[in-house]
Amino acid sequence: ADRTVTVVEAVDRLLGRAVAPVVASHVRQRLEATGVRILTGTSIARIEGENGHVVAAITSAGERLPARMVVVGVGAVPNVELAQAAGLSIANGIRVDHQMRTSVPEILAIGDAASYRHWFTGGDVRLESVQNATDQARLAARTITGHADSYSAVPWFWSDIGDMKLQMVGLTAGGDSHVVLGDLPDNKFSIYHYAGDRLLGIESVNRPGDHMLGRKMLGAGFSPTPQTIAAGPEGLKAALAAFQNMELAKAGA
Ligand SMILES: Cc1cc2nc3c(=O)[nH]c(=O)nc-3n(C[C@H](O)[C@H](O)[C@H](O)COP(=O)(O)OP(=O)(O)OC[C@H]3O[C@@H](n4cnc5c(N)ncnc54)[C@H](O)[C@@H]3O)c2cc1C
Repeated sequence: ADRTVTVVEAVDRLLGRAVAPVVASHVRQRLEATGVRILTGTSIARIEGENGHVVAAITSAGERLPARMVVVGVGAVPNVELAQAAGLSIANGIRVDHQMRTSVPEILAIGDAASYRHWFTGGDVRLESVQNATDQARLAARTITGHADSYSAVPWFWSDIGDMKLQMVGLTAGGDSHVVLGDLPDNKFSIYHYAGDRLLGIESVNRPGDHMLGRKMLGAGFSPTPQTIAAGPEGLKAALAAFQNMELAKAGA
């Protein structure tokens, strides 16, 4: 309380690596409504201190922001030096296959440091999330114990920002259209992102039920039409059950 908060973001919007623009602008509006000042397209040129304490941050535009505390959140890069010295392939992290094996198959890598071809998007990714690290740890244990399962977990993420419980499932980069369930002004909504007619992922704010159902849908390989989504959660649940029954019947045939 009674603190002045300024967010300084180098690129032209918030959460550029994490969520679609529609969600980022919602987050921005909510934060600004609580008095947070947000400067995009701006970076910190230098930080001033006195007697060992920070007193101000100076922006790239030359503005002096008096400050008693500076929180630096500028991303992370993987420590690949050890892997590099061991001769492993490196490409935005330690390269692994679908069993978490590096280019030297006796050496495995997982988590934030590992990059791989994602089964879901077909693109190369290096994901930084607890779900990714723990699911890959389980899979690495399977590989070590002689199994040949492939990494096929559906990626999901979460973050609590002020009064927003933000939950994401799937990977939405490359989406070309979206469908909204719920209400943005009400701060309760889900955005279903599509590439063509394929559901890529869902970003939810304060709609955890949509998120959980989304994890089930994407995990089952079910891509509902925008019309089915517009029918709401009950219609979606029924459509997922019908899809799963059909898959079971196919498997049994
Ligand atoms: C501020 C912050 C907030 C986050 N919030 C979320 C969130 O809300 N949700 C979410 O899903 N994820 C979140 N994450 C990401 C999540 O913490 C990481 O994705 C996860 O911890 C990755 O696990 P990991 O085991 O790959 O790496 P780490 O947790 O980084 O563990 C790697 C370990 O290896 C050790 N190490 C490094 N080099 C060596 C070496 N040569 N020898 C021995 N040990 C070594 C390191 O010291 C470290 O302990 C957040 C991360 C940060 C920094």
